[in-house]
Amino acid sequence: MLEAEECGRGPSGRNGGFLHGYWSHLPRLRERFGDEGALAVARAGEGIVRGVQAFAESSGADFWLRAAGMLRVSAAPAQDASIGDEADAAQELGVPEEAVLLSPEQLAERVRSPVFREGVFLRDGATIQPARLVLSLRREALAKVELHEHSRVTQIDDGLVATAGGSVRAREVVVAVNAAAAGWRPLRRRLTVFGSYVVLTEPVPQLLEQIGWTGGEAIFDGRMFLHYFRTTNDGRVLMGSGSGPIGFGGKLDRRFTHDEPTVARAEHGLRRLLPGLAEAKVTHAWGGPIDVSSDHLPFFGTVPGTRIHYGAGYSGHGAGPSWLGGQILAGLALGVDDELTRLPLVTRRVPKLPPEPIRRLGGGVVRAAIMACEEAEEEGRRPSLPARVGAALPRLFGLRIGTR
Ligand SMILES: Cc1cc2nc3c(=O)[nH]c(=O)nc-3n(C[C@H](O)[C@H](O)[C@H](O)COP(=O)(O)OP(=O)(O)OC[C@H]3O[C@@H](n4cnc5c(N)ncnc54)[C@H](O)[C@@H]3O)c2cc1C
Repeated sequence: MLEAEECGRGPSGRNGGFLHGYWSHLPRLRERFGDEGALAVARAGEGIVRGVQAFAESSGADFWLRAAGMLRVSAAPAQDASIGDEADAAQELGVPEEAVLLSPEQLAERVRSPVFREGVFLRDGATIQPARLVLSLRREALAKVELHEHSRVTQIDDGLVATAGGSVRAREVVVAVNAAAAGWRPLRRRLTVFGSYVVLTEPVPQLLEQIGWTGGEAIFDGRMFLHYFRTTNDGRVLMGSGSGPIGFGGKLDRRFTHDEPTVARAEHGLRRLLPGLAEAKVTHAWGGPIDVSSDHLPFFGTVPGTRIHYGAGYSGHGAGPSWLGGQILAGLALGVDDELTRLPLVTRRVPKLPPEPIRRLGGGVVRAAIMACEEAEEEGRRPSLPARVGAALPRLFGLRIGTR
């Protein structure tokens, strides 16, 4: 295993810690893969939380795993329309227990906020402390794998992988480099990079008691650039915002780690969504890049004519799905034909994104328009015409970005 820095320095060591499979993505999966394909992916994803639980037990590692499910909440009238989508899809596919619509009263039994309107409970979901998990995985891997850290791969050919200090011959090559794949020729038209940022409060267990959020549910709202928030084992609240800057090709610069406006949006989300935590001080903030595919679902495959396998496009939801991705990539490398390597995550055609610089410029316009729409909707204003037109642009090109 060749790692450019140290295992865990990437977003796997500093994400929001939402760990889940694909029941929460049912409407999107259906739209892309049809009912059968959607169910196959969601069922395959059921192994994720169970697999991580089994790893906790077998390794004895404590990475603060808490399997308390997830809530998606509507936090503005414009978000109400989509809140029933998961529950409708689950009902229609005969799995109503996977997404249960909650009335405002039922939602308030789990968490109280004056801006939460309704919600849906998704039982497939857990939280983890990501750095603890990734360091435990690194420890286990060291017993089985030859690991070379500080060994950035500079060239990938069929059967040969080069770094500045040496090269490795390998019949099967697996490329799993997250957002850096946006700069790798075989994938660069299929990925764009966005920033995601989080803020973390001081421990506030008493305030959590007051708003009734003691069950450990991970929560996200109905925005396209969503807010995601959760409690931690030491009584803090983490609030994330997926509204960070868009990248250019595979360039991973400071905008993905030092973007103050996105940190401010994450904190604004904390104050707006959870006013009961007004006194909670923010003690930490950080960010990282996310590898976004054109349909916001990951894809796996083998570069034609080679034994170079890849997985990317987790689109900000890779903490759990990269477990599934690991199983799929193992299957591809071993030449296995099974239910995992036959999933639509492997077999579908991923629509291409426009080339640079159009992608960056167009993506920037769409991002600004969507953010303006969502801000207006949260403030009870009608979004301006240019914002509405900009937010609708992706559809004109057959692309679906989030809920827009
Ligand atoms: C702030 C933030 C919050 C997030 N929150 C969540 C969340 O709550 N839930 C969720 O599911 N997802 C979340 N995500 C996304 C999630 O973290 C990722 O999808 C997931 O960690 C991807 O795992 P990975 O192993 O593919 O990537 P990484 O953890 O980034 O690992 C890729 C590794 O490849 C290495 N690498 C890159 N280029 C090279 C090269 N040339 N040679 C050798 N090595 C190289 C990197 O150094 C890195 O260690 C979040 C992301 C961010 C940034």
